[in-house]
Amino acid sequence: MAERISEILQKRLSDWLGFYEDLGIRLFYSDRGAAAVRPSEQRSEPPAMARFSTPNIQKEETLPKPAGKSALRVTTPIVTPVSPKIPSLPVAAGPSLFESVDRIVDDTLLKVREDLGECTRCKLHSTRHKIVFGDGNPKAELVFVGEGPGADEDAQGLPFVGRAGKLLTQMIEAMGLQRKDVYICNVVKCRPPENRQPEEEEVSTCSPFLFRQIDVIAPKVIVCLGAVAAKTLLQTNRGISQFRGEWLEFRGRKLLATYHPAYLLRNPPAKSEVWKDLQKVMAVLGLEVKKGKSS
Ligand code: SF4
Repeated sequence: MAERISEILQKRLSDWLGFYEDLGIRLFYSDRGAAAVRPSEQRSEPPAMARFSTPNIQKEETLPKPAGKSALRVTTPIVTPVSPKIPSLPVAAGPSLFESVDRIVDDTLLKVREDLGECTRCKLHSTRHKIVFGDGNPKAELVFVGEGPGADEDAQGLPFVGRAGKLLTQMIEAMGLQRKDVYICNVVKCRPPENRQPEEEEVSTCSPFLFRQIDVIAPKVIVCLGAVAAKTLLQTNRGISQFRGEWLEFRGRKLLATYHPAYLLRNPPAKSEVWKDLQKVMAVLGLEVKKGKSS
Protein backbone atom coordinates (compact mmCIF):
# COMPACT_ATOMS: atom_id res chain seq x y z
CA MET A 1 0.00 0.00 0.00
CA ALA A 2 2.84 2.35 0.99
CA GLU A 3 4.58 1.66 -2.33
CA ARG A 4 1.37 2.42 -4.23
CA ILE A 5 1.00 5.84 -2.54
CA SER A 6 4.59 6.59 -3.39
CA GLU A 7 4.02 5.89 -7.06
CA ILE A 8 0.93 8.07 -7.16
CA LEU A 9 2.75 10.92 -5.51
CA GLN A 10 5.69 10.53 -7.80
CA LYS A 11 3.46 10.57 -10.85
CA ARG A 12 1.57 13.64 -9.63
CA LEU A 13 4.74 15.48 -8.80
CA SER A 14 6.28 14.52 -12.11
CA ASP A 15 3.17 15.71 -14.00
CA TRP A 16 3.12 18.92 -12.03
CA LEU A 17 6.79 19.68 -12.69
CA GLY A 18 6.41 18.72 -16.33
CA PHE A 19 3.44 21.05 -16.76
CA TYR A 20 5.30 24.04 -15.37
CA GLU A 21 8.45 23.13 -17.25
CA ASP A 22 6.39 23.15 -20.43
CA LEU A 23 5.37 26.66 -19.49
CA GLY A 24 9.01 27.56 -19.11
CA ILE A 25 8.71 27.97 -15.35
CA ARG A 26 11.73 26.63 -13.64
CA LEU A 27 12.30 29.19 -10.96
CA PHE A 28 10.60 27.22 -8.24
CA TYR A 29 13.60 24.91 -8.34
CA SER A 30 15.41 27.72 -6.60
CA ASP A 31 13.30 26.97 -3.51
CA ARG A 32 15.91 24.76 -1.96
CA GLY A 33 13.54 23.44 0.64
CA ALA A 34 11.00 22.36 -1.93
CA ALA A 35 13.54 20.99 -4.35
CA ALA A 36 15.25 19.02 -1.63
CA VAL A 37 12.15 16.97 -0.94
CA ARG A 38 12.03 13.92 -3.12
CA PRO A 39 8.76 12.06 -3.64
CA SER A 40 10.01 9.15 -1.56
CA GLU A 41 10.64 11.56 1.31
CA GLN A 42 7.06 12.77 1.17
CA ARG A 43 5.80 9.29 1.80
CA SER A 44 8.05 8.32 4.66
CA GLU A 45 8.01 9.89 8.06
CA PRO A 46 10.34 12.87 8.00
CA PRO A 47 13.25 12.67 10.42
CA ALA A 48 12.62 14.22 13.83
CA MET A 49 14.79 17.23 13.17
CA ALA A 50 12.88 17.95 9.98
CA ARG A 51 9.57 17.81 11.74
CA PHE A 52 10.40 19.78 14.82
CA SER A 53 12.04 23.05 15.39
CA THR A 54 15.14 23.16 17.55
CA PRO A 55 13.89 23.17 21.10
CA ASN A 56 15.00 26.14 23.10
CA ILE A 57 12.33 26.05 25.78
CA GLN A 58 12.16 23.28 28.29
CA LYS A 59 9.60 22.13 30.79
CA GLU A 60 9.81 19.99 33.87
CA GLU A 61 7.62 16.97 34.31
CA THR A 62 7.10 14.75 37.29
CA LEU A 63 7.01 11.12 36.31
CA PRO A 64 5.07 8.55 38.33
CA LYS A 65 6.97 7.54 41.43
CA PRO A 66 8.50 4.05 41.15
CA ALA A 67 7.87 1.85 44.16
CA GLY A 68 10.22 2.66 47.01
CA LYS A 69 11.82 5.62 45.24
CA SER A 70 11.31 9.36 45.21
CA ALA A 71 9.47 10.99 42.33
CA LEU A 72 11.52 11.47 39.21
CA ARG A 73 11.82 15.00 37.87
CA VAL A 74 12.92 15.15 34.26
CA THR A 75 13.35 17.96 31.83
CA THR A 76 11.87 17.49 28.39
CA PRO A 77 12.05 19.93 25.54
CA ILE A 78 8.92 21.68 24.36
CA VAL A 79 8.93 21.19 20.63
CA THR A 80 6.96 23.08 18.08
CA PRO A 81 5.77 21.01 15.16
CA VAL A 82 6.82 22.42 11.85
CA SER A 83 5.43 21.08 8.62
CA PRO A 84 8.05 19.59 6.39
CA LYS A 85 8.63 21.84 3.40
CA ILE A 86 6.86 19.87 0.73
CA PRO A 87 5.52 21.67 -2.32
CA SER A 88 1.76 21.34 -2.44
CA LEU A 89 0.52 19.37 -5.38
CA PRO A 90 -2.09 21.15 -7.44
CA VAL A 91 -5.32 19.34 -8.12
CA ALA A 92 -5.61 21.17 -11.40
CA ALA A 93 -3.16 23.67 -12.76
CA GLY A 94 -4.75 27.10 -12.92
CA PRO A 95 -4.24 30.80 -12.70
CA SER A 96 -4.05 31.06 -8.95
CA LEU A 97 -1.33 28.42 -8.87
CA PHE A 98 0.52 30.13 -11.62
CA GLU A 99 0.35 33.42 -9.85
CA SER A 100 2.04 31.88 -6.84
CA VAL A 101 5.05 31.10 -8.97
CA ASP A 102 7.73 33.71 -9.52
CA ARG A 103 7.68 35.47 -12.83
CA ILE A 104 10.12 34.19 -15.37
CA VAL A 105 13.27 36.19 -15.76
CA ASP A 106 14.23 37.08 -19.34
CA ASP A 107 11.05 35.59 -20.73
CA THR A 108 10.07 36.58 -24.26
CA LEU A 109 7.03 36.10 -26.43
CA LEU A 110 9.12 33.78 -28.58
CA LYS A 111 9.90 31.58 -25.58
CA VAL A 112 6.25 31.54 -24.59
CA ARG A 113 5.30 30.52 -28.11
CA GLU A 114 7.99 27.85 -28.17
CA ASP A 115 6.85 26.47 -24.82
CA LEU A 116 3.27 26.38 -26.05
CA GLY A 117 4.43 24.40 -29.09
CA GLU A 118 1.85 22.37 -30.98
CA CYS A 119 -0.12 22.22 -27.78
CA THR A 120 -2.33 19.26 -26.93
CA ARG A 121 -2.73 20.11 -23.25
CA CYS A 122 -6.51 20.41 -23.40
CA LYS A 123 -9.18 18.89 -25.59
CA LEU A 124 -9.58 22.01 -27.70
CA HIS A 125 -6.52 20.91 -29.68
CA SER A 126 -8.48 18.12 -31.32
CA THR A 127 -10.81 20.43 -33.24
CA ARG A 128 -8.63 23.45 -33.96
CA HIS A 129 -7.00 24.23 -37.24
CA LYS A 130 -4.53 26.83 -36.05
CA ILE A 131 -3.34 27.98 -32.66
CA VAL A 132 -4.11 31.67 -32.27
CA PHE A 133 -1.28 32.87 -30.10
CA GLY A 134 -1.68 36.64 -30.28
CA ASP A 135 -0.73 39.49 -32.52
CA GLY A 136 0.57 43.01 -32.35
CA ASN A 137 3.24 45.13 -30.74
CA PRO A 138 5.32 43.08 -28.28
CA LYS A 139 6.00 46.30 -26.37
CA ALA A 140 2.45 47.61 -26.49
CA GLU A 141 1.18 49.88 -23.76
CA LEU A 142 -2.28 48.47 -24.35
CA VAL A 143 -3.23 44.80 -24.46
CA PHE A 144 -6.69 43.56 -25.38
CA VAL A 145 -7.65 40.13 -24.07
CA GLY A 146 -10.59 38.29 -25.59
CA GLU A 147 -12.15 34.94 -24.88
CA GLY A 148 -11.02 32.58 -27.63
CA PRO A 149 -10.69 32.28 -31.38
CA GLY A 150 -13.72 32.00 -33.63
CA ALA A 151 -13.95 30.36 -37.05
CA ASP A 152 -12.09 33.10 -38.95
CA GLU A 153 -9.36 33.27 -36.35
CA ASP A 154 -9.03 29.49 -36.31
CA ALA A 155 -8.60 29.50 -40.08
CA GLN A 156 -6.07 32.34 -40.18
CA GLY A 157 -4.22 31.84 -36.89
CA LEU A 158 -4.77 35.49 -35.98
CA PRO A 159 -6.92 36.99 -33.24
CA PHE A 160 -9.98 39.13 -33.89
CA VAL A 161 -10.10 38.99 -37.68
CA GLY A 162 -13.80 38.16 -38.12
CA ARG A 163 -16.75 40.54 -37.79
CA ALA A 164 -16.10 41.17 -34.13
CA GLY A 165 -12.47 41.73 -34.99
CA LYS A 166 -13.35 44.37 -37.54
CA LEU A 167 -15.36 46.17 -34.89
CA LEU A 168 -12.44 45.94 -32.48
CA THR A 169 -10.19 47.41 -35.16
CA GLN A 170 -12.62 50.30 -35.55
CA MET A 171 -12.60 50.85 -31.82
CA ILE A 172 -8.81 50.85 -31.74
CA GLU A 173 -8.67 53.34 -34.59
CA ALA A 174 -11.27 55.48 -32.87
CA MET A 175 -8.82 55.69 -29.98
CA GLY A 176 -6.27 57.17 -32.35
CA LEU A 177 -4.26 53.93 -32.54
CA GLN A 178 -3.70 51.20 -35.07
CA ARG A 179 -3.79 47.47 -34.52
CA LYS A 180 -0.01 47.29 -34.82
CA ASP A 181 0.25 49.64 -31.84
CA VAL A 182 -1.55 47.30 -29.45
CA TYR A 183 -1.34 43.61 -28.63
CA ILE A 184 -4.37 41.37 -29.00
CA CYS A 185 -4.74 37.87 -27.59
CA ASN A 186 -7.22 35.49 -26.00
CA VAL A 187 -7.64 33.44 -22.87
CA VAL A 188 -7.65 30.16 -24.82
CA LYS A 189 -5.59 29.81 -27.95
CA CYS A 190 -7.69 27.20 -29.73
CA ARG A 191 -11.22 27.61 -30.95
CA PRO A 192 -13.89 26.04 -28.77
CA PRO A 193 -16.24 23.99 -30.98
CA GLU A 194 -19.35 25.85 -32.12
CA ASN A 195 -17.91 28.97 -30.51
CA ARG A 196 -19.00 27.76 -27.10
CA GLN A 197 -17.47 29.31 -24.01
CA PRO A 198 -14.21 27.68 -22.99
CA GLU A 199 -14.62 25.31 -20.07
CA GLU A 200 -12.98 25.91 -16.73
CA GLU A 201 -10.34 23.25 -17.27
CA GLU A 202 -9.50 24.62 -20.71
CA VAL A 203 -9.13 28.11 -19.26
CA SER A 204 -6.98 26.97 -16.36
CA THR A 205 -4.74 24.96 -18.67
CA CYS A 206 -4.26 27.64 -21.28
CA SER A 207 -4.32 30.89 -19.30
CA PRO A 208 -0.81 30.58 -17.79
CA PHE A 209 0.50 31.25 -21.27
CA LEU A 210 -1.63 34.39 -21.42
CA PHE A 211 -0.22 35.50 -18.08
CA ARG A 212 3.29 35.05 -19.41
CA GLN A 213 2.42 37.06 -22.50
CA ILE A 214 1.15 39.90 -20.34
CA ASP A 215 4.21 39.75 -18.08
CA VAL A 216 6.51 39.93 -21.08
CA ILE A 217 4.69 42.77 -22.80
CA ALA A 218 4.27 44.65 -19.52
CA PRO A 219 1.53 46.94 -20.79
CA LYS A 220 0.31 50.03 -19.01
CA VAL A 221 -3.28 48.95 -19.45
CA ILE A 222 -5.06 45.64 -20.02
CA VAL A 223 -8.55 45.74 -21.48
CA CYS A 224 -10.58 42.59 -20.98
CA LEU A 225 -13.10 42.05 -23.73
CA GLY A 226 -15.99 40.17 -22.20
CA ALA A 227 -16.70 38.17 -19.10
CA VAL A 228 -14.41 35.20 -19.71
CA ALA A 229 -11.29 37.35 -20.02
CA ALA A 230 -12.29 39.47 -17.04
CA LYS A 231 -13.11 36.52 -14.82
CA THR A 232 -9.90 34.76 -15.77
CA LEU A 233 -7.59 37.67 -15.03
CA LEU A 234 -9.48 38.89 -11.98
CA GLN A 235 -10.23 35.41 -10.62
CA THR A 236 -13.78 36.36 -9.87
CA ASN A 237 -17.21 34.90 -10.45
CA ARG A 238 -18.90 38.30 -10.36
CA GLY A 239 -20.81 39.26 -13.48
CA ILE A 240 -18.98 41.69 -15.73
CA SER A 241 -21.77 44.25 -15.42
CA GLN A 242 -20.80 44.67 -11.76
CA PHE A 243 -17.32 45.96 -12.54
CA ARG A 244 -17.37 46.94 -16.22
CA GLY A 245 -15.66 50.27 -16.75
CA GLU A 246 -13.97 50.27 -13.32
CA TRP A 247 -10.24 50.44 -12.90
CA LEU A 248 -9.01 47.20 -11.42
CA GLU A 249 -5.64 45.52 -11.24
CA PHE A 250 -3.92 42.44 -12.59
CA ARG A 251 -0.47 41.70 -11.19
CA GLY A 252 0.17 45.37 -10.57
CA ARG A 253 -1.15 46.58 -13.92
CA LYS A 254 -4.23 48.63 -14.58
CA LEU A 255 -7.08 46.53 -15.90
CA LEU A 256 -10.44 47.56 -17.22
CA ALA A 257 -13.15 45.19 -18.38
CA THR A 258 -15.62 46.05 -21.06
CA TYR A 259 -18.04 44.26 -23.35
CA HIS A 260 -16.81 41.88 -26.05
CA PRO A 261 -17.17 43.22 -29.61
CA ALA A 262 -19.29 40.16 -30.46
CA TYR A 263 -21.76 41.33 -27.81
CA LEU A 264 -21.77 44.78 -29.39
CA LEU A 265 -22.69 43.25 -32.74
CA ARG A 266 -25.77 41.80 -31.06
CA ASN A 267 -26.43 44.88 -28.92
CA PRO A 268 -25.29 47.98 -30.81
CA PRO A 269 -26.62 50.40 -28.14
CA ALA A 270 -23.96 49.08 -25.77
CA LYS A 271 -21.29 50.61 -28.01
CA SER A 272 -21.65 53.91 -26.25
CA GLU A 273 -20.85 52.26 -22.90
CA VAL A 274 -17.77 50.65 -24.39
CA TRP A 275 -16.68 53.93 -25.89
CA LYS A 276 -16.91 55.56 -22.46
CA ASP A 277 -14.70 52.78 -21.12
CA LEU A 278 -12.19 53.23 -23.90
CA GLN A 279 -12.07 56.95 -23.26
CA LYS A 280 -10.90 56.16 -19.72
CA VAL A 281 -8.17 54.02 -21.22
CA MET A 282 -7.22 56.82 -23.60
CA ALA A 283 -6.92 59.24 -20.69
CA VAL A 284 -4.50 56.91 -18.89
CA LEU A 285 -2.48 56.40 -22.07
CA GLY A 286 -2.39 60.14 -22.75
CA LEU A 287 -4.35 59.82 -25.98
CA GLU A 288 -6.46 62.70 -27.14
CA VAL A 289 -10.12 62.04 -26.48
CA LYS A 290 -12.17 62.98 -29.53
CA LYS A 291 -15.91 63.19 -29.29
CA GLY A 292 -18.35 61.20 -31.40
CA LYS A 293 -16.12 58.37 -32.66
CA SER A 294 -17.97 55.48 -31.15
CA SER A 295 -20.06 54.40 -34.11
S1 SF4 B 1 -6.53 25.90 -25.87
FE1 SF4 B 1 -4.49 26.30 -25.02
S2 SF4 B 1 -4.10 24.57 -23.64
FE2 SF4 B 1 -5.78 23.97 -24.98
S3 SF4 B 1 -4.78 22.88 -26.68
FE3 SF4 B 1 -5.03 25.03 -27.29
S4 SF4 B 1 -3.11 26.02 -26.76
FE4 SF4 B 1 -3.21 24.07 -25.63
